[in-house]
Amino acid sequence: MNAEVITAGTELLLGDVIDTNAPYLSGKLSQCGIDVYYRTTVGDNKERLVRALETAAGRSNLIIITGGLGPTVDDITRYAVSEFAKKNLVRNEKSLLKIRGFFDVRGIKMPESNIIQSMFPEGSLILENRNGTAPGFITEGKGVIIAALPGVPWEMEEMFQNALMPVLEKKGIAGRGALVSRTVEIAGVSESLVNDRIKDLFEKSINPSIAVLAAPEKITIRATAKAETVKKAADMADELITRLAAMFPDNIYGINGEKPQQALGRIFTNKNMTISTAESCTAGMIAAALTEIPGSTAYYMGGINSYSNESKTDILGVKSEVIEKYGAVSGQCAEEMAESCARLFKTDAAVSVTGIAGPGGGSREKPVGLVFMGFYVNGKTDVMKFNFPGSRDIIRRQASSNAIFEMVKRVRG
Ligand code: ATP
Ligand code: MG
Repeated sequence: MNAEVITAGTELLLGDVIDTNAPYLSGKLSQCGIDVYYRTTVGDNKERLVRALETAAGRSNLIIITGGLGPTVDDITRYAVSEFAKKNLVRNEKSLLKIRGFFDVRGIKMPESNIIQSMFPEGSLILENRNGTAPGFITEGKGVIIAALPGVPWEMEEMFQNALMPVLEKKGIAGRGALVSRTVEIAGVSESLVNDRIKDLFEKSINPSIAVLAAPEKITIRATAKAETVKKAADMADELITRLAAMFPDNIYGINGEKPQQALGRIFTNKNMTISTAESCTAGMIAAALTEIPGSTAYYMGGINSYSNESKTDILGVKSEVIEKYGAVSGQCAEEMAESCARLFKTDAAVSVTGIAGPGGGSREKPVGLVFMGFYVNGKTDVMKFNFPGSRDIIRRQASSNAIFEMVKRVRG
């Protein structure tokens, strides 16, 4: 069984609205064993939507359309499906009553234009909309099943889950197998090194299959397993991820998308430890990331955004001789920043960052992307030097995420 998702809406083509329905449906369909081979986006134009349906019918067994079920003139999905399937639109009295009821409870008279929302291609199965007025429907035509869902994401998702899925399961279309993905995220090694290390497994793995995706902060290895049940597929994917993770014992950034700040939160809470931050080139990004985590108040005591040299000496307490002798972007300065910070905030741990984010300000000895970090943990401090590639934004993101990741490495275990 393979499906095609069509999202209708001119605003999607113009880039005004980001299409979230198509990825949502892709994810849900693949999880229940339905392959999605194509996704199409069409504007609010009946002829083009009919043509998209014809094309989809030539290569897919199930078509799911979202959008264009409303009462306005640009809502053309029901007309397009009716023309494609050669089925007249007929009124469903029960649906009309429900739509009227929706307005009645709000004390408003239903506008005449809403009547259209109770019209469906003859013989359609109607899908209830619990979060809005427009019902969806399922019909058949030219040998394919067509399901039309509303465009509003929370209406569409609710209807997919509670109205369409049960029908797909009953028809034996969904639930004939499950696809489950699990991931391990790696940091501090290059993509080519990751590839080399997992090469053997990679080449042998068909089910689960392996994919490698690189981003500035991390490299994600994804294992995707297909099996009769979700449980079995999950077990297969988990088993492979455990093996892959074991190949990078010192570089695990997260498992299944866990962010380092989540791991840090878990560890600091368990160990009853506290942390503070002293940031120059990231100017609060680490603080922001750490406090994303609910409950961070228990272990995060605060931080200093010491962007200028004066703030490093006057507020944080870095010795001015250190800055004069080695510069603000130096291991010595990072070390002092971390230690002073821990002292000021009376924390068990402190992390500091100082670097050159660019694009200006670099030199031969201290190029753009040079970042020093200090890690103070229970009376001991160590310093790390990084040379991050990329734009200002990417350098700062990498500095921030690596600082958290490196702190996690020092306190876990
Ligand atoms: P309505 O009854 O509100 O008119 P509808 O089923 O006709 O619903 P649309 O008119 O196409 O749906 O879209 C309604 C809203 O949902 C719009 O704000 C639109 O931007 C948003 N929307 C539509 N399709 C998508 C999509 N694929 N992803 C994200 N948002 C979407
Ligand atoms: Mg609409």
